[in-house]
Amino acid sequence: MSDEPLVSLENTEVHFEEESGLFDFSEPDVVRAVDGVSLDIGEQDVVALVGESGCGKTTLGKTAIGLQRPTGGSVTYRGQDIWDAKDNNGDVDIPYDDIRRSLQIIHQDPGSSLNPNRRVLGTLEAPLKKWQPDMSSGDRREEIVRMLEAVGMTPATDYAGRYPHQLSGGEQQRVALIRALLMDPDLILADEAISALDVSLRVDMMDLMLELQQQFNTSFVFVSHDLSNARYLASHAGGRIGVMYLGELIEIGPPEQIINDPQHPYTKVLRWATPDLRSTDKAEEPPVRKIDIPDPKNPPSGCRFHTRCPEAREACKADSPASYDQESGHRVRCFRADDDHDYWSSQPVTDDEPSAHASDATSD
Ligand code: SF4
Repeated sequence: MSDEPLVSLENTEVHFEEESGLFDFSEPDVVRAVDGVSLDIGEQDVVALVGESGCGKTTLGKTAIGLQRPTGGSVTYRGQDIWDAKDNNGDVDIPYDDIRRSLQIIHQDPGSSLNPNRRVLGTLEAPLKKWQPDMSSGDRREEIVRMLEAVGMTPATDYAGRYPHQLSGGEQQRVALIRALLMDPDLILADEAISALDVSLRVDMMDLMLELQQQFNTSFVFVSHDLSNARYLASHAGGRIGVMYLGELIEIGPPEQIINDPQHPYTKVLRWATPDLRSTDKAEEPPVRKIDIPDPKNPPSGCRFHTRCPEAREACKADSPASYDQESGHRVRCFRADDDHDYWSSQPVTDDEPSAHASDATSD
């Protein structure tokens, strides 16, 4: 990886206002989908984002590739603020169109992202026509055949003539991957890209992504609810696993450290909940005080995990932990990473008291 990040998120927030009813004049609820996340993504980097449903991992991924406008903080591509480029604000060094081409996505359901009325050839010609208008039709077809062969869809000329419904789910996802790669992107967001595939095909698809990542020098942000898949991809690519909880990036680091030596109590819960990884964590009960996930419209005050955390102390209710650096790029948002923090002298939280929420501080 070069020193300059490819994409950099700095204290990024994405807050959504929920729609109110026609005659509801109260203040709309705000969902803090992403809150105060800082993350650098380098060249040929792989970051696997994991967390429970609704934790904000997909929103964070879309924000990183400029598909979601942040409501706070910044997102830059090679030092250029993506939204300044889009709005033509100030001195723009990299035009928005170039940024858009460089940051691509493949979706969870390739069937719905491919035009059902277009053959594979037409689907794959479209990005080349747009981004390389000088390319001859013969060269375009040659390039498409080469890419189909590279992802194992042979005979390529046969596949080029098929419609999406004539392809399996795995083949549709390969076409979506080729379409993204034909843009010559620097970064691809794979948003739950293997979840809809049969279990038997998932490892094949991950291997293909790893192979193409090397071949095309592309970075990947891989969004998954499965820690085991995140580990597979991140460890084979020498990348990182990032763990999200209620809109915050609570731990990030090399996969073997996250799996074998998690520092955040929530990461231990995720590991416990992943059957393939359970052998390293033999407890029968989940390591949480409460199963229920708090409402993201009214998250707990202080550390957002304090209502469920078995290690929570009074200090955790009041303040939100900073991101503490560990070794080898490992970072964790938990007071337990700071030997000098008041956490260590405060009392353990008991479940008899009502939980504190962020809104309590402003409700009077
Ligand atoms: S800061 Fe406190 S509540 Fe939060 S994860 Fe650490 S110990 Fe648990």
